[in-house]
Amino acid sequence: MAAKAFEKQGMKLLTGATVKSLDKKKSGVTATIEKGGKSEKITAERVIMAVGIVGNVENLGLEGTKVKVDRAHIETDEWGATGEKGIWAIGDVAGAPVAGAQGLP
Ligand SMILES: Cc1cc2nc3c(=O)[nH]c(=O)nc-3n(C[C@H](O)[C@H](O)[C@H](O)COP(=O)(O)OP(=O)(O)OC[C@H]3O[C@@H](n4cnc5c(N)ncnc54)[C@H](O)[C@@H]3O)c2cc1C
Repeated sequence: MAAKAFEKQGMKLLTGATVKSLDKKKSGVTATIEKGGKSEKITAERVIMAVGIVGNVENLGLEGTKVKVDRAHIETDEWGATGEKGIWAIGDVAGAPVAGAQGLP
């Protein structure tokens, strides 16, 4: 659904592709992309990077506990406490904000 919406806006989606290099010039950025053993160059005005966070919540032995998992993240209160007494979760597994930000005063 998201892919269709992006394509409607004129975006070209490349999945299973790896960005091998970025060459920044005044006119834009040329990305060398490898996909299926083939290499291609795409030049764009800008490059942005966005990654999602998916917690590794499987096989942690949470079954049968009061720890709640919502969309691959462990639900906690503002102190990192889960629904199960004595079990805490911080960092990426607890979802945004990311761990780096949580470590800051
Ligand atoms: C490319 C990139 C750039 C980033 N840049 C920044 C930045 O500039 N500033 C910033 O604040 N954050 C940044 N982040 C995010 C930051 O790296 C993470 O938020 C942070 O590393 C999360 O720490 P964590 O300890 O929660 O998880 P992780 O660092 O992922 O550590 C989890 C550990 O648990 C282990 N593990 C997983 N499952 C199990 C299991 N079942 N049993 C036992 N061990 C397990 C993993 O092997 C891993 O060692 C960036 C992330 C990426 C990918």
